[in-house]
Amino acid sequence: MRGGADFRVLAMSEAKASLQPISEAAAGAILTIDLGAIRENYRRLKAKLGGVRCAGVVKANGYGLGAAQVAAALVAEGCDIFFVAHLAEGAALRDAIGLEPEIHVLNGLPPGSEPEAVAADLVPVINSAGQLEAWSKAGQKAGHKLKAAIQVDSGMSRLGMAPAEVEGLASDAFAGVDVVLVMSHLARADEPANAANDAQLKEFERLRTMLPKAPASLDNSSGVFLGLPYRFDLARPGAALYGINPTPDEANPMLPVVRLEAKVIQTRSIEKGAGVGYGHAFLAGGPLRVATISLGYADGWHRRAASAAWVDGVRLPFVGRVSMDSIILDISALPAGRLREGDLVELLGPSQSVDDAAGHAGTIGYEILTSLGPRFHRRYVNA
Ligand SMILES: *Cc1c(COP(=O)(O)O)cnc(C)c1O
Repeated sequence: MRGGADFRVLAMSEAKASLQPISEAAAGAILTIDLGAIRENYRRLKAKLGGVRCAGVVKANGYGLGAAQVAAALVAEGCDIFFVAHLAEGAALRDAIGLEPEIHVLNGLPPGSEPEAVAADLVPVINSAGQLEAWSKAGQKAGHKLKAAIQVDSGMSRLGMAPAEVEGLASDAFAGVDVVLVMSHLARADEPANAANDAQLKEFERLRTMLPKAPASLDNSSGVFLGLPYRFDLARPGAALYGINPTPDEANPMLPVVRLEAKVIQTRSIEKGAGVGYGHAFLAGGPLRVATISLGYADGWHRRAASAAWVDGVRLPFVGRVSMDSIILDISALPAGRLREGDLVELLGPSQSVDDAAGHAGTIGYEILTSLGPRFHRRYVNA
């Protein structure tokens, strides 16, 4: 118990340190997060879901955008249930949004951490019979039943009780717990025609009947677009709230949420044959104007990304390698003098969506967002 208390103090001071605001003037780059767009995306998902309840998934600090700010915006839209991945994320979120909303912890509880979860009033997503036993014991010790979500593995082989485990549960396995949700997760929800979705749906329905009667949840963002049979009682969207396209084969039904702009540190003219950046990975084929911007792989811009920045709708390709703290752009396509020290270039925004940037980096929008670093000035708008 004492160890738990110490841990929470540490987690909170660490959270404060990482939230130390960086002024707009001092920052090398500005990350603008449109909370109004997040709210609109939540409303669009709710409209799609009909009367089905809609949670907000704010794990990994709200997909990198600030769990406390995102959750507050969703609370204003009537959202009263949240999912994080870790206990520490849940405890920090509890401090930020108060006692009312239900907070579920997707990765469950590491052995021995039950008292901390009780202290922060978190609902663990129970993924095994052993976790259920530990949580049920904690409930019996606390003298009242503790809320739990039970996850079953309907075919992703990642987390949740296996079918045999569900079938083998003892009749008193739930003695100390109050099952508030039965859930599973889809492996291929972004491929609506894939037969794996239907197979998971059927398996989820079968496993549900073996568990205590409780509301059920299967949909992530893409799942919301799979249709009525997948909806059950609660959806758990994350990515779509943050503007990532949940329907990759179709136009994005969500509003963009982030804008990332980096400052120009220096501009220069270089001659034909000049080597640019580490390893001289780029050699100027002719005279060129270049700008160095204050953003690099330490800010989450992948070193392997073949990418560009944008100004006035003009594409400015990266030249040479991405450095830790800087990137060099070919700005020859802009009028001379257009870019000066301190001016901003767009990395994410109207000219380049999060999904576009992910495509250039050979990854997914989720990784672009969760990689965004701590050195930006963060500007929350339309709260
Ligand atoms: C991350 C996660 C979600 C949210 O998924 P998105 O694709 O971001 O909507 C929902 N459920 C579980 C179990 C998850 O791990």
